[in-house]
Amino acid sequence: MDGLNEATTSDSETRFLPVTVAQRGMWVSSKIAPADSVFNIAEYVEIHGAVDAPLFVEALTRLAGEAETARTRIVEDDHGPRQMIAAAFDRAIPFIDLSAATDPQGDAQAWMMAELSRPVDLARGPLWVAALFKAADDRYFWYHRCHHIVLDGFGGGLLARRLAELYSALVEGRDPEPCPFGGFATLVESEAAYRASPRFEKDRAYWRGQLAGIPEPISLAKRRATPTGGLLRATARLSPASTARLHEIAKGVSGTLPQILIALVASYVYRLTGAEDLVFGMPVTARTSGVMRRIPGMMANAVAIRLHMASDMTIGTLVGQVGRTVMQALRHQQYRYEDLRRDLGLLRQDQQISWVGVNIEPFDYDLRFAGLPSTAHNLSNGSVEDLTVFIYDRDDGQGLRIDFDANPGLYTKAELEDHQRRLVRLIEAVLARPDQAIGEIDLLEAAERHQVLTLWNQTDHAVPERPWSDLFEAQAAARPDAVALVVGADRFSYGALNAAANRMAFGLIARGIGPGQLIALALPRDAHLLTALIAIHKAGAAYLPLDPAAPPARLAATLEDARPALLLTTTAIAGGLPWHGLDSLCLDQTPFDGPARNPTDDDRRGRRRTDDPAYVIYTSGSTGRPKGVVLHHRGLTNFLAAMQDHLGLTPDDRLVAVTTVAFDIAALELFLPLLAGAQVVLAARDTVRDPAALAGLIVESGATLMQATPSLWRALIADHGTALHGLRPLVGGEALPAALAHGLRQLGHQVTNLYGPTETTIWSTLMELDGAELDHPPIGRPLWNTRIYVLDRGLQPAPIGVPGDLYIGGIGVATGYLNRPRLTAERFIADPFGQPGDRLYRTGDIARWRGDGVLEFLGRSDFQIKIRGFRVEAGEIEAALTSLPTIAQAAVVLHEEPNGDKRLIA
Ligand code: AMP
Ligand code: MG
Repeated sequence: MDGLNEATTSDSETRFLPVTVAQRGMWVSSKIAPADSVFNIAEYVEIHGAVDAPLFVEALTRLAGEAETARTRIVEDDHGPRQMIAAAFDRAIPFIDLSAATDPQGDAQAWMMAELSRPVDLARGPLWVAALFKAADDRYFWYHRCHHIVLDGFGGGLLARRLAELYSALVEGRDPEPCPFGGFATLVESEAAYRASPRFEKDRAYWRGQLAGIPEPISLAKRRATPTGGLLRATARLSPASTARLHEIAKGVSGTLPQILIALVASYVYRLTGAEDLVFGMPVTARTSGVMRRIPGMMANAVAIRLHMASDMTIGTLVGQVGRTVMQALRHQQYRYEDLRRDLGLLRQDQQISWVGVNIEPFDYDLRFAGLPSTAHNLSNGSVEDLTVFIYDRDDGQGLRIDFDANPGLYTKAELEDHQRRLVRLIEAVLARPDQAIGEIDLLEAAERHQVLTLWNQTDHAVPERPWSDLFEAQAAARPDAVALVVGADRFSYGALNAAANRMAFGLIARGIGPGQLIALALPRDAHLLTALIAIHKAGAAYLPLDPAAPPARLAATLEDARPALLLTTTAIAGGLPWHGLDSLCLDQTPFDGPARNPTDDDRRGRRRTDDPAYVIYTSGSTGRPKGVVLHHRGLTNFLAAMQDHLGLTPDDRLVAVTTVAFDIAALELFLPLLAGAQVVLAARDTVRDPAALAGLIVESGATLMQATPSLWRALIADHGTALHGLRPLVGGEALPAALAHGLRQLGHQVTNLYGPTETTIWSTLMELDGAELDHPPIGRPLWNTRIYVLDRGLQPAPIGVPGDLYIGGIGVATGYLNRPRLTAERFIADPFGQPGDRLYRTGDIARWRGDGVLEFLGRSDFQIKIRGFRVEAGEIEAALTSLPTIAQAAVVLHEEPNGDKRLIA
C-alpha cells in the first residue's frame, strides 16, 4: 500500500514520447477543429450498494497513478506533437453527493453531459476526468471520461477492472494484485516494429486487394452537410427472448451472435440503399498480443467489411459470408485505417471508405466493487462522422442494447429512431421466418405501408372516355369567334381552326386513315401544324411528331423504325429529306378544302377507343438507340383534364408554345389552351432560340403562362426577368435548381414544378412552389389517376424519407415501346399493388417521399442525363451532340477524365 502511495506522489520527471500513427490522425483532426469535445469517450458505472466514498476516491487516485492515460497531455513543439506524461497525478477527484436531490440520476447525468461536452485542449488537459456521485445510500455512479487520443474502449475496460480491484482491496484491507498495465512506450515501440515488418506489407497488400474498386461510400443520411460536432444517440432494446432466439438461429447456421447481428445490420443498410457491393467500417481493438491487451491506451482501429448483397439471399447465407469476411479482416486488423485511406487515395478528397459503421461490443463488464454489482452506461464512443450502430451484449439479462450513434449535422433524432424501429422490425421478421429472402422482408409498419401505397395515391377521378379533340370541339361550338391560335401576325378563331381540322380529318379518313394508324408530321411551326395534330385525332389516328430541324439521319432512322402510314409535310421540308417509299402529303400543295363537316358526327365515333394510340414519341434512354413510346388517348385526355383542373386556364389566358413538337410536352402547350377556350401563341423556332425575341413575343402577345425546361427559363430570366413579370411559370423536364426556382418566383406567381417521363404521358407529378419549398424544389404529388411508388430492389416500398426507385402507374402509363416487346417487358412491369392487368413504368429516377406525401427527386439510377430537356445516355453523348437539334447549340463540353470516364459540362 505504501509503495502505491509513493508511486502517485513521486516527483520523478515528466517524460516525453512520440505519438503513434493512430494518435497523429486524431491530433491532426483536432487541429482542424481545436478544443473540441467530439473525441471524448465516456461512460458511467452504476454501483448497486453502499460505496465507501473516500476509499473509492482513493482507489481512483491510485488508478490515475498507475495508468499513464490519466496523466498524459499532447504538446506540440518544432518536431510536431509529443505525448507528455506527468510523473504524478495531482488533481483532486470530485465526490458529489446528490442523495438529497429529487432526481439524483438526472442531476448526475446533467453534470456528466456538461463535463462531456466541454471542449478539451490537448496541450492543457485534462484528457482524463473521473468523478463519484452518490444518488442514494445504496446507489452510486462512477463517471469517467477521456479524450480518445489516449484511450480506447478496450482500454476503458482495463481501467474499470483495475479500479474494481483497487477499491475491493482497499475495502478488504489487503494488498491489491500487482498493477498489470503496460506503458505507452511499449505502444510506440510495437507500432514502429509493426510498421517496419513484412507483416505490415502483407496487410497492406491484403487490404488493397480486398478494397480494389470499392463503390462510393454509402450513407443513410438525407443530407450531406459538413459534419458538426456532438453526438446524437437513439437507443433501442431487443428482448432477452429475441436475443436468445438470435443466438439459436446463428448457431443453426454455424455462426455467432456478432456475425448474425452484423448480417442483420448489413441487410438493413442494403434494403435502404440498394448497395449490392456493401462496405462498412467495423471498429477493432487491433490488440494482437497479450502485452497489447494490457495497455490502457489508444490502439483501436477500424477495418472495412465488404459484403456482396443480393435481395434473394437469406440471413443464413449472409452469416456465412460475414463470418469469412470478418475473420479475414481480423487477421489484418493492425493495418491502420488512416493508412488505408491514403493507399486508396481517399485522404486528399476527405473521403471515407464508408460512412456507416457497425460495432458489436462483446466486452462483458460484470464488474464487482467489493462485492457490489454494477451496470455500465455508455455515454459516448467518440466522434461519429456519420452513423455507427453499436450493439451491446452485456449478458445482464436485459437483452441487447442497440445504439445508433450519429452525427447531429446529418441526422435528426426522429430519423434515427425511424431507422432503429425498422431495424428491429427486420430483426423480428428474421426471427419469425429465418429462411425468407432479405429482399422480401417488409420494413414498413401497416400504417406507413398504407400511407405510401394507398393514401398518397388516392388520385381516382372520373375523366371523359373521349379523345381530347372532342373537348376542343365543345369549345369551338361554344365560342367560335374567340381567338384560338396566334402565329406571327395571323390569328385563327376556334371556329376556323375546327373547320380546317375537320376538312383535313375528312381528307385523312378518305385516304383510309383511322384508329391504330400512325401519321408522321414534319411541319414548320405554323397553323398547319396545329390543324394537322387536331385532324389526326379527329380521324382517330395517332401522330408521330418530327422536328424538321433534326439531322436528316435521325429523322430517317425514326421513320424507318416507326413506318408510319403517311407523312404530312411541306414541299420545302420534303425536298431536303430522304423519305424513301413513304406515302407523304405536302400540305402546301394539298389543301383540304372539302366540307367542314364534323367527323365526330361520323359513324366512326362508335369505333374510337380511348386505348387506341394517340401519339408516338421517340426518346432515348437505357439502350442508346432512340425508341418510340406509344401513348394512348385515355392517358392524354386524363392528363389534359387533370392539368386544366389544376391550372384552371380561362378564356383570358394566353400560353406561349415554345417546345419542339418532337417533345411530348408540346401537347400541353398546344392542346391545353384549346380545352379551356384560351389562346395558343405559337412561337417560331428562331424566336425560341433568341431570348430577347422570345421575351418580346411574350410581352407583345400578352402571354399569361408558359411552360419550359429549366435551361430555357434560365436563359430567359437572366436578362429579361422584368419584361416577363406576371407570366405564370411552368417548369419541368429536368431537376429544378433552387436559384432558378427563386428567380421564377420573382415573376409574381407560384412556380409549378412538373415531373414525368414520356412513358407516362407528359407529366405525372406536380407541385406549386412557394416560400421555403423554393429552397429544395420537390416534384410534388401524383396527378389524377396516377400512382407513384418508391420501391427498393426487391420491389418493396421504401420507407418514408428513404430513397428508392420511382415507379409510375395509372391511366397515363404508355402502351409500350413501338416494335420493342422485350424492352417493353423490361421497363413496364406488372403492378404488384394494383388490380390484375395494371402496369408500372420503371422510370430509372431515384426519389423519396417526404413525410407529407410530397415527392423529392434525387437523381438517376443510371447514366441518363438531360441536355436541354433531351434524354441522353452517357454512352451516346457524343452521338447526341451531333444528332439532336437543340443540343447542337447548347454550351456543352465533353470532358474526359483521366480514368476514361466522360463528363458533361453544360
Ligand atoms: P422525358 O421522358 O424526356 O420527359 O424525360 C423524363 C426524365 O426527365 C425523368 O425520368 C427525370 O429523370 C427527368 N425529369 C423530368 N422532369 C423533371 C423534374 N421536374 N425534376 C427532375 N427531373 C425531371
Ligand atoms: Mg417529360
